[in-house]
Amino acid sequence: MSKIQLLSPRLANQIAAGEVVERPASVIKELLENGLDAGARRVDVEVEAGGVRLMRVRDDGQGMDAGDLPLSLNRHATSKIASLEDLEQVASLGFRGEALASISSVARLRIVSNHGDDSAGHAVEASGRDLQATVTPAAHPRGTTVEVRDLFFNTPARRKFLRTAKTEFRHVEEVVKRQALSRHDVAFSLRHEQRVIHQLDPGPSRAQRERRVAQVCGPAFMEQALYIETDGAELKLWGWVGMPGFSRSQADLQYFFVNGRVIRDRLVAHAIRQAYRDVLYHGRHPAFVLYLELDPARVDVNVHPAKHEVRFRDGRMVHDFIFSSLHRFLAELRAGSGSSGGGALPAMPPAPAAGAQPHLGWGSGRSAAAGAGAYPERPVAAGPGEQVMPEVAEEAVPPLGYALAQLHGIYILAQNQAGLVVVDMHAAHERITYERMKQSQAEGGVRRQPLLIPQSIAVSRREADCAEAQAQTFAELGLGLERTSEEALVLREVPVLLRDADLEQLVRDVLSDLIEYGSSDRIRAHQDELLSTMACHGSVRANRRLSLDEMNALLRDMEATERSGQCNHGRPTWTRLSIGELDKLFLRGR
Ligand code: ADP
Ligand code: MG
Repeated sequence: MSKIQLLSPRLANQIAAGEVVERPASVIKELLENGLDAGARRVDVEVEAGGVRLMRVRDDGQGMDAGDLPLSLNRHATSKIASLEDLEQVASLGFRGEALASISSVARLRIVSNHGDDSAGHAVEASGRDLQATVTPAAHPRGTTVEVRDLFFNTPARRKFLRTAKTEFRHVEEVVKRQALSRHDVAFSLRHEQRVIHQLDPGPSRAQRERRVAQVCGPAFMEQALYIETDGAELKLWGWVGMPGFSRSQADLQYFFVNGRVIRDRLVAHAIRQAYRDVLYHGRHPAFVLYLELDPARVDVNVHPAKHEVRFRDGRMVHDFIFSSLHRFLAELRAGSGSSGGGALPAMPPAPAAGAQPHLGWGSGRSAAAGAGAYPERPVAAGPGEQVMPEVAEEAVPPLGYALAQLHGIYILAQNQAGLVVVDMHAAHERITYERMKQSQAEGGVRRQPLLIPQSIAVSRREADCAEAQAQTFAELGLGLERTSEEALVLREVPVLLRDADLEQLVRDVLSDLIEYGSSDRIRAHQDELLSTMACHGSVRANRRLSLDEMNALLRDMEATERSGQCNHGRPTWTRLSIGELDKLFLRGR
């Protein structure tokens, strides 16, 4: 008798389920994707006991007829692709045809659906079995309801990996949030134990989308985020990026969608981290909701069973596009200035919500909903009949205003159109010095010096190949590197600023970046770190008395300097108190 046997379909499905169905949240993800693929305009999710006891997903999409219903439960049964060419341009979320088969092999599944034909609808049931499922008539409006009960009832070993209902529900909620962010045009709702947790209305306008982002990510994010929209090289990037001041201790508010599919991708993560590097406090994580759109043929989505990952055909170009778009955007966040963010209101620095005072005719004058905490891009001129602050000619007041005094040798107090501006003098000067040093460094090229004793570095053949192929890149970085054998390099020249760094480690890190991402930011990162330290020493120290002229010069420099909203360590350099906020403090006008 042969030792090799064909697995039963049921066992094969259970094995496949190991990859696709990890926990209730993964079931919800598959069912939501099916609803969206069916063209639903609204999807309602209901769960009990974190989803382990019951998950019910109802959509108003195109449904299935009596013939398709039992087929949908078969492995490798899909209506979404028919050929390899289809796979190369896949536009639907699903295409592997194994979700329902996998789910039905590890839970009790019931589907009721109506194709919008004349019938009232049909139901099909399966509970971990591989027999032909039977179809019975059942009432349902156009669309589909899928019910999944008792997850892992027949695979006790896997049930043991489940966490508490509360934890499982958190994962379910996260999946619903991601899908809701991916499709602003679809309504979503989520209930747990009969309680409504989310109710998200659809809407195409910017304001409606921003409302959804605020509901999903919290209003604080929306207040501290800027809208970005940019395209190039047939790539489009849009969405909301958190101001550096709204950084997080964990990478838990990061949503990135590629053609509507939420993904986690190291290349993308690297590009974003690199873009934020210079404005984020060490160890903090940026927050963002970003959408990348490109020709589906340029991205391979069939690299992961649950499709969490993608592979870009031209990873380097995508990386550079994301990096340079965000980098430019963040660099333009000067103190007191607006941004190029498609007319979005910047919300910096982390200030209390602006109590705009429309009756005074200054301040942003916009509703709190449109830009709470926002700083006016330009001083807003008073409307007819509105009171104007005496002695302040509104068109002449620069964003950070004019200095009034110095407080305790640390802060500059200034008056602008909206009220009081407080500047941390050292932090601000440090950023200005730093940006200047970086600029002169960039203009003069990387200053280099030969090593007295050339340093040899043992590397792998792949690394040596890379070093050889990228000799020009290394030269631009100020590293004179030569290949001396199959697996050895010798370093002869290094950037002056980095002569005391661990050069061997640096070369290795740059090589691994080049191999993985096609570019390396490390030299710049190291140099910037040194420049930053030097800038700190070269900047005005506390307790130095400044004249009003000196203070005003510093304010003007801040307005003109890139990234001056944060000091080199990512802390804010200034804040402000509007007259409205001051009025509130003194209970005025109540
Ligand atoms: P895939 O989504 O990869 O095609 P699934 O196992 O998730 O595989 O679903 C199998 C098929 O069942 C789908 O291709 C689709 O034709 C049908 N189907 C599943 N869910 C729905 C739904 N909610 N509405 C309409 N059709 C559905
Ligand atoms: Mg599917």
